Amino acid sequence: MELIGVPEGADLDLDLRLESVSEGVLVSGTVSGPVKGECGRCLREINHSVVVPVQELYAYENSTTDATTDEDEVGRMQDDLIDLEPALRDAVVLTLPTNPLCREDCPGLCPECGVHWDDLPADHSHQQIDPRWAGLSQLNRTEE
Ligand SMILES: [Zn+2]
Ligand SMILES: [Zn+2]
Repeated sequence: MELIGVPEGADLDLDLRLESVSEGVLVSGTVSGPVKGECGRCLREINHSVVVPVQELYAYENSTTDATTDEDEVGRMQDDLIDLEPALRDAVVLTLPTNPLCREDCPGLCPECGVHWDDLPADHSHQQIDPRWAGLSQLNRTEE
């Protein structure tokens, strides 16, 4: 399961400049969009938005670039059209963290009770039974 991603069908905001260069069209600018996910430490929902710089060249058909590069490396013009969406989506996805957190210093959950440390008092702890006493209480029980 993906911990974080761009929601399906989400609108990406584009602020792009298209420049005609000798080999094709250079697209540069920024793309911003919403990011939804789950904090890797506390499972709280993450609702961020990201702004990602992009610079992509879309080569003309039959240009030198077209002849010498792979389609994976450099995009291609399709006639007069550019299909920007895959590259932009990739650009956003590449900036996403592999271990998303709701915030940088998320303290996570108490491993004993699963409550967020933010919601617990600073001195929160669970009574630990000392193994020696645990043995003793067992002894008491057999005597009863
Ligand atoms: Zn968190
Ligand atoms: Zn606890």
